[in-house]
Amino acid sequence: MPVVHTPAASSFRGVHRGLSSAAVAGLLLLAPSAALAQVVGPAGSVAPSYQPGIDVLHYEFALTLPDTGSRIEGLATVHVRRTAAVDTLRLDLLALDVSRVTVSGAPVNARRDSARIHIPLPPGSSDSLAIGVTYAGSPTDGLVISRDPEGRWQAFGDNFPDRGRHWLPTVDHPSDKATVRWIVDAPDALRVVSNGTLAEETPLGGDSSGRTRTIWSTTRPLPTYLMVIAAAPLAFVDLGRTACGLAESPGCVPQAVYLAAEVRDFAPGPFARAGDMVAYFSRLVAPYPYEKLAHLQTTTRFGGMENASAIFYSDRAFRQRSLGIGLVAHETAHQWFGNAVTEREWGHLWLSEGFATYFAQLWTEHDISDSAFRAGMEGIRRQVLGAAVVAERPVLDTTQRVYLELLNANSYQKGGFTLHMLRAVVGDSAFFRGVRRYYAAHVHGTALTDDLQAAMEAESGEQLGWFFDQWLRRPGFAELTIEWRHDRASRRLTLKVRQGGRFGSYRVPLDLDLVAPDGTARRVRVDIPASAESSIVVEDVAARPSRIVADPAVRVLGTVVVR
Ligand SMILES: [Zn+2]
Repeated sequence: MPVVHTPAASSFRGVHRGLSSAAVAGLLLLAPSAALAQVVGPAGSVAPSYQPGIDVLHYEFALTLPDTGSRIEGLATVHVRRTAAVDTLRLDLLALDVSRVTVSGAPVNARRDSARIHIPLPPGSSDSLAIGVTYAGSPTDGLVISRDPEGRWQAFGDNFPDRGRHWLPTVDHPSDKATVRWIVDAPDALRVVSNGTLAEETPLGGDSSGRTRTIWSTTRPLPTYLMVIAAAPLAFVDLGRTACGLAESPGCVPQAVYLAAEVRDFAPGPFARAGDMVAYFSRLVAPYPYEKLAHLQTTTRFGGMENASAIFYSDRAFRQRSLGIGLVAHETAHQWFGNAVTEREWGHLWLSEGFATYFAQLWTEHDISDSAFRAGMEGIRRQVLGAAVVAERPVLDTTQRVYLELLNANSYQKGGFTLHMLRAVVGDSAFFRGVRRYYAAHVHGTALTDDLQAAMEAESGEQLGWFFDQWLRRPGFAELTIEWRHDRASRRLTLKVRQGGRFGSYRVPLDLDLVAPDGTARRVRVDIPASAESSIVVEDVAARPSRIVADPAVRVLGTVVVR
């Protein structure tokens, strides 16, 4: 999702129903059932919570896209494993017509309601079943079909957070990740780009001449909100083989930009450092988790959407040439955080957005300078302090049911700044070891905030419940007022700290620069307890400071007034 939360761009949303009626080549492709892809990592080791007893292992979506109009035809094959004796599989699918449902190849009487398909399963448990769903219709969201400004037909998936169910029958929840294979028949003029590896691009003959079948497949499981296709007349700009030896797969990470021909000269532009970014994050966190990384000009309603190995950016960002390197860094960081390690519940979205926000700043620190990084963190803190949602709701917001509302200053900026403070609390070394431990424990699976806390505690040797509670489970931020006096005879600096106004008291490690009359500064760290009033003595301060600068390194989320 975008660094800056842009409102939905209504001009790009929805289906252009004014197009001529769908003259669809009514060919429903009965693709051979794909062998279950090898699932790597511990995916599936945690019971999905959205649909207990069901674990989707693999989706295969065979889709026929029209030459014009918006009617699509699909055959979804859903490979599920039962982890308990469950007699019904409920697949989320809105509005589209379902004509046939099979279980292990045999037709079944499935019940349809406005939101789901209820599919009876044979008695049993601990088994794997292949469910086939044949369906068709004009999606009103999820797969967004439109004409580009040049009048060309195009379709882009845009599933976040739970809009995949508008066009794909799925267990549409981030707790259940699965591999995916896309078999897309589309007019030759369209280029089809998706998650994973391009397996096939075959011109079709006979009744389907003028059309091409494109197959993409992943070997890594994804949440449904990251499973997308682009089908559009996009030009291809090769960014080459990047981050060689730094990915999970042997070899390099091929990267490319797909964009409209008329803005082709915009590339590589903000993508010129895409290879360095993947290399940087690979070294900092873990090998790049996917097969390739594509960057696409699309109609996503978000400024950028981190779809696994195929990042979708807004059309406008290309046409106005406003797409910046910070957005590329944010969406690239998501490939590790959010994509490879996925928040198991929406209320923990900060594990995706907070990490992407902070790691984009770490890229700035690496690529530009410490001062640019500090300025970035100051900007993030300003946004937190000014955001109404921060004062009203905690970052861990498990009561919010309108998931798009979670794209807010809590998930992004406060989450990102919380990681920054955690780094200051446990130190650089333990922090990055903790990040790597957390990532390694959950790569290609899912995680909750407690998992991050456990990894950080293991690497730092400290109990961190106080930290996670005060920054993630309470609204607000610290508001400190510090009065000080110096006693020359005892060489003591005494601080009287007051807090606890609107948001209660915080335990805060605080750096102070004691600035001498000659301008030299001595930095001391004091540990401010979570109390409304506290008194702290700094020993061995010979001369009275001319002034005291609080939090010079921008490490405290809040306000500090020194008197
Ligand atoms: Zn994001």
